[in-house]
Amino acid sequence: AEKILQIRNLTTAFLTDQGVAKATDRVTFDLEKGQTLCVVGESGSGKSVTALSVMRLIDYAGGVIMDGEVLFNGEDLVRTSQDDMLRIRGNLITMIFQDPMSALNPVFTVGDQIAEVLRIHRRMKKKAAWQRSVEMLKLVGIPDPEIRAKQFPYEMSGGMCQRVVIAMALACNPELLIADEPTTALDVTVQAQILELLLQLKKELGMSMLLITHDMGVAAEVADRIAVMYAGIVVEEGTVQQIFENSRHPYTIGLLQSIPGMDGKRGGELYTIKGSIPPISKVPSGCRFHPRCPHVMDICRTEEPLLKSSLTGHKTACWLEDKGEFDLKSNKGNNQ
Ligand code: SF4
Ligand code: MG
Repeated sequence: AEKILQIRNLTTAFLTDQGVAKATDRVTFDLEKGQTLCVVGESGSGKSVTALSVMRLIDYAGGVIMDGEVLFNGEDLVRTSQDDMLRIRGNLITMIFQDPMSALNPVFTVGDQIAEVLRIHRRMKKKAAWQRSVEMLKLVGIPDPEIRAKQFPYEMSGGMCQRVVIAMALACNPELLIADEPTTALDVTVQAQILELLLQLKKELGMSMLLITHDMGVAAEVADRIAVMYAGIVVEEGTVQQIFENSRHPYTIGLLQSIPGMDGKRGGELYTIKGSIPPISKVPSGCRFHPRCPHVMDICRTEEPLLKSSLTGHKTACWLEDKGEFDLKSNKGNNQ
């Protein structure tokens, strides 16, 4: 299948009090055209840094891409000129964030804000841009779009505002939508509606989607493939079935066991992964997960396991893979 995005060894660093620290380290994954890839992990795992690096917006966050490639339709965005990036960003690739209010300008009507995007990126005339913005509001499921277009963000609910943000992001018909925790700030019932909307629009418009979430439940709903990140690296990557039904990495297994109802024991005691994710300036030696891993071995403390692919394309970075047959149905028991 055709790949819209190929991320290769993406390494992004920040200057911290302890010196230069890598927020992502050799991050590698592919997104096929028309598919959804979810990047999952706890906060601080490098998910958002990966997304901002793809958009070449990481400099605004104080980071710098040190190494690697981000191939978008074969063009390496890391080495693309700022001018070309202006052509790509907001046009071919758009991004939405967690908090819709911060993406909207409080002093303009939502119709004007969508129209503005079309006037800048598509050079549409005022009237045509307004008409298209009303159409976009209709497309994202906002009732009475002609009336709503004349309203200000504060006159709308959070869910409604996120629909407006989605309308703005999709107005130019992008090939790739990057959504960073798009439902995290919303009520649970609204979350489901927004995910549903994103999936439906992705299909209708033929887009590809890179969705970032800390929530395995969200990934289960929308992903074709999942990349699990931990402390700046991809520790496991595979199809949604491979990750949910045959997860290999102890971190992924821990994440899955900490979701209510995921191990079939709804209401039972939930597993929590002991400890917390290390700061980027203090990444542990060897396997970065070793201080928290219930299966830690001697080699894990000194040697870093690299991401290796099985014949089915299921990738895992864990020394247990080298031990051949093993059964990791559960982390429980080893942890207490
Ligand atoms: Fe655990 Fe070792 Fe695998 Fe790391 S490499 S996840 S410490 S078993
Ligand atoms: Mg984030």
